[in-house]
Amino acid sequence: MEVNALDDSASARIKKIIAEVKPLAAEYYRLTGKPLGVTGEVAEYLAAQILNLDLAPARTDGYDAIRHEKNGSKVRIQIKGRALGESATRGQRMGTIKRNAACDIVMLVLLDNATLDPREIWEAPYRPVEERLAAPGSKARGRGALGISEFKRMATQVWPVEMAHPSNMSGASEKACPECGYKFKGGTWGGIDAHWRSRHERIAAYESVRSAILSGRYIRPE
Ligand SMILES: [Zn+2]
Repeated sequence: MEVNALDDSASARIKKIIAEVKPLAAEYYRLTGKPLGVTGEVAEYLAAQILNLDLAPARTDGYDAIRHEKNGSKVRIQIKGRALGESATRGQRMGTIKRNAACDIVMLVLLDNATLDPREIWEAPYRPVEERLAAPGSKARGRGALGISEFKRMATQVWPVEMAHPSNMSGASEKACPECGYKFKGGTWGGIDAHWRSRHERIAAYESVRSAILSGRYIRPE
């Protein structure tokens, strides 16, 4: 099936809906301990925003988004979202991965269950994931879903890349403003508050972006 991009007014409206539902879903989780049931949609939307994917039209079979590679090929992606607390992910499982699907990659979007903000995105080729699910006697097969840590062992972290990529580790101690790239001296965040207030306060109040910046999860607005 050919993928039609959503028109601008529809995608602007979707962006607004997601922005409004995120705090509601997070509050619902705090009150009930259960997800509201929008985690999948929020995860798809955030992955598309962060990684510049095209979301597939509703009811597309087998995949949720398309990535256009530089060589012109299209990668079909099944996206799974999981909202987690601060505690370890041990024992947590992904949602059910569709079998025999027309898809090339499985992507796992981990969200903070207190805010539904993105924490990590991982991806793995679909074929070995499917083989793991099909393996006779495997726990994954019995449950129809891979454990998150099991999936991570087969996967590559694609966001945030600075934290994930060994080749970037030498620069890991260098702190730079995620909005303009200004480098702070001495490998610390000292001065980020004054810098942000003088340069980027019209984008967002420093208090509202502080934790995202310091944890490396800040996303530049469109
Ligand atoms: Zn800056």
